[in-house]
Amino acid sequence: MNRIYEYKCRECGEIFDALMDEEYRTMGRQHSCGGWGDYIISRPYFKESIDSDAWKKKRESHMKMEKKNQKEHGDYGCMRHV
Ligand SMILES: [Zn+2]
Repeated sequence: MNRIYEYKCRECGEIFDALMDEEYRTMGRQHSCGGWGDYIISRPYFKESIDSDAWKKKRESHMKMEKKNQKEHGDYGCMRHV
């Protein structure tokens, strides 16, 4: 049965969907950039990949905020996230 599975490209790191036969899903799939995509367990709720720019930006601005908090309130800002 064909289903949409998720693959992660070894070359560019992009996560992409591909329609694959269930039986062969773990074999991987070539990405449009030419790199080879490894099968990853599909996590639909995990929409924002940790490799995505949006995530990085969010993380960066979060870290900036933490640093600011640290300056103003000691390490209180970080304690909540340890
Ligand atoms: Zn790629």
